[in-house]
Amino acid sequence: MRNILVTGGSRGIGLAIARRLAASGDYNVVAVARRESGELAAAIREAQRCLHFRACDLAATDAIPAFAKSVRDKFGAIYGLVNNAGIGTDGLLATMSNSQIEALIRLNVLSPIILTKYVARHMMADGVGRIVNISSIVASTGYSGLSVYAASKAAVTGFTRSLAREVGKVGITVNAIAPGFIDTELTSSLDDQGRRRITGRSALRRLPEADDVASMVEYLLGEGGRNITGTVLTVDAGNTA
Ligand code: NDP
Repeated sequence: MRNILVTGGSRGIGLAIARRLAASGDYNVVAVARRESGELAAAIREAQRCLHFRACDLAATDAIPAFAKSVRDKFGAIYGLVNNAGIGTDGLLATMSNSQIEALIRLNVLSPIILTKYVARHMMADGVGRIVNISSIVASTGYSGLSVYAASKAAVTGFTRSLAREVGKVGITVNAIAPGFIDTELTSSLDDQGRRRITGRSALRRLPEADDVASMVEYLLGEGGRNITGTVLTVDAGNTA
């Protein structure tokens, strides 16, 4: 079974991805987060040895090389990397502290880039690999109160497109998924009125769900994804249509 590393796999979108991939029977999934949630622990019990938890604070970027090595030593070659962990501190730029800005860029931009560096090196030697980065529709639409977050997600798409060109020649694909608003802990501060507003302007008059993103990840990792690289795939129920 192929090993897939899913960052931020303890809840929300990352947990949906980890669950779906483990349930497919095709993958051995390593979910990474700072803490193992009760939901992840239950999913691990259900998955019967196809799903594992490894703790790592990915914001501590100096620890990433040793972490990547420890996963490889324990599980073997990593076929797929899903860079999903992220934070979404919102606030008008003028009122954000510099440390909030730095923390957001550190986790949403530096950590996936550095983790990818240490994982992709081995993928290149293995001559195979799939990388999926989770961006956001706000990277291209913009949203008042999310300027730093949007900048971080736009960095992810720029990284995706260029890395796809760098590593494509050895058979590795690199893509990004840009979800629209999805109900998770990250978005729990949005009230019902905000939800209705987003739903109302979406072509399908509904919100996407975490498992919709998971299903796109599964597709990109599978046979159907072998000739898809350097793209940003939107999963937003038509919010930006
Ligand atoms: P959640 O807040 O629900 O989950 C975030 C995950 O990241 C958790 O597993 C969390 O675990 C982990 N995480 C947070 N900080 C760290 C850290 N320092 N080191 C390791 N893991 C960490 O977020 P979502 O599921 O909503 O978001 C997942 C991704 O999708 C993010 O990149 C987000 O930007 C993106 N996205 C989300 C959208 C939405 O509407 N929800 C829309 C568009 C994009 P723990 O806290 O235990 O470390």
